Amino acid sequence: MDCIFCKIISGSIPSYKVYENDKVVAFFDILPISQGHTIIAPKSHVSDIESLSEEEMCALAQAIKKIGKAVMKGLNVKGYSVFLDNKSAANQHVPHVHFHLVPRAEGDGLERWPQSGYDEGEAENCLNKIKLKLNTE
Ligand SMILES: [Zn+2]
Repeated sequence: MDCIFCKIISGSIPSYKVYENDKVVAFFDILPISQGHTIIAPKSHVSDIESLSEEEMCALAQAIKKIGKAVMKGLNVKGYSVFLDNKSAANQHVPHVHFHLVPRAEGDGLERWPQSGYDEGEAENCLNKIKLKLNTE
């Protein structure tokens, strides 16, 4: 297994480890968007969100909440952004599912993605396609 996150988790690659428990590990991103930018990942090699167990997903959510609170208090920031790039189409570069927790400041210049809109009927069409799969899978 040539997974950089598995190597960080096993300790064969050094990291600034923020937190760990039996299911989850959190460490600094080496190319941080802001200081304290933390990656939160399951300890087991799981490629994407769909492959996570319910227990792992819950453990990740709990870790985000815990670390976010510590980041705000410890770094004296008023907020943070949390995101996850799921699969290569979404720019997931390491195939070991992980959340990013990025400390934020007012006016830090980190902008959101470009926004668009829906033409007549597009929102309903899109909604129906998703809801059909929610009800069947
Ligand atoms: Zn891995």
